[in-house]
Amino acid sequence: MTARIRPDLASIPLYVPGRDFPGAYKLASNETTLGPLPSVAKAVAEAVELAHRYPDNRSTELVAALAEALDVPAEGVSAGCGSVAICQELAQITCVAGDEVLYAWRSFEMYPIVTQVVGATAVTVPLTEGHVHDLDAIAAAVTDRTRLIFICNPNNPTGTAVGQRALESFLDRVPPHILVVLDEAYFEYQRFPEGDRPDGVELGRTRPNVVTLRTFSKAYGLASIRVGYAVGDPAVIANLGKVHVPFSVSRVAQAAAIASLQSQAELLERTDAVVAERVRVRDALVGAGYDVPPSEANFVWLPLGSQSADFSAASAAAGVLVRPYGVDGVRVTVGDPHENDAFLEFATNAASRRFADVSANR
Ligand SMILES: *Cc1c(COP(=O)(O)O)cnc(C)c1O
Repeated sequence: MTARIRPDLASIPLYVPGRDFPGAYKLASNETTLGPLPSVAKAVAEAVELAHRYPDNRSTELVAALAEALDVPAEGVSAGCGSVAICQELAQITCVAGDEVLYAWRSFEMYPIVTQVVGATAVTVPLTEGHVHDLDAIAAAVTDRTRLIFICNPNNPTGTAVGQRALESFLDRVPPHILVVLDEAYFEYQRFPEGDRPDGVELGRTRPNVVTLRTFSKAYGLASIRVGYAVGDPAVIANLGKVHVPFSVSRVAQAAAIASLQSQAELLERTDAVVAERVRVRDALVGAGYDVPPSEANFVWLPLGSQSADFSAASAAAGVLVRPYGVDGVRVTVGDPHENDAFLEFATNAASRRFADVSANR
């Protein structure tokens, strides 16, 4: 007889990772194309020599380095096994069955999963016509059961971002007992005008109900190493420790993250090339007739509606793996120039024009 599993698990969507197969260009997981810096690889190799010892459960050294870099108290920083693990921890510390978690849709696929895992109820608010967070509608959707709000900024999968002033006025309307999580996984790719650059850590300095999530997986290029972090009010951050899976941030992850912070400038410089390619890719797609919202991340969004699956299958057949999202659209990671060229060659050729027509006419 099969063991009894909680019945609601059947309705929890399985996280679907980006596909990969040999020989194809993978523009499906928002990874960086460059490997670790030699200094980071060396730190990893050294950490491995102590693989037989448990890591520091609280990532003390990493947390101290982050706190110093961000000018916040160490008690206001917590590391996690990727920031997705902290998304789950945040749902666990705020919600019991029947509470509501509020977020835009489409947004990051982990939000519905962590919501359902803790038995909370998801309340979703559609993005605007321009595929941007509708902060007014989100504020209006708050109820007395709302415990947690996720704002993914820039938004995965649409790449759109809202500026600092819009976030401020949104936060002013959210009751202060509700935890607002600003998921800034793509923070480093933003190129906002000075003065309006969204920055959750700054917003959190005066708002104890704001927690900011960042990660080493994207701009810092450590997707495989699994380390992200939360910054917020020490009273909130302390609770993350209660639900944290012990030792889930490995010694290797802590060492790699510390070494990456030491080479921060060099790693952040890499984002300039990605941003230049993001502009080039979007311009070419728009020029070919596609509707593509401006992106502040390392990917672009093609709202292809019911054609999304066909487009992504045709792209895979042309050797470029992209990520379809149901009947909403397709997300394409900005890769190296030759990879982007391969994608553009497929997307803008005569046979693909029908997809551009669909997107323009929606
Ligand atoms: C990639 C991503 C994360 C973090 O991923 P980890 O690898 O777990 O750190 C978090 N939020 C969003 C929106 C992402 O796209």
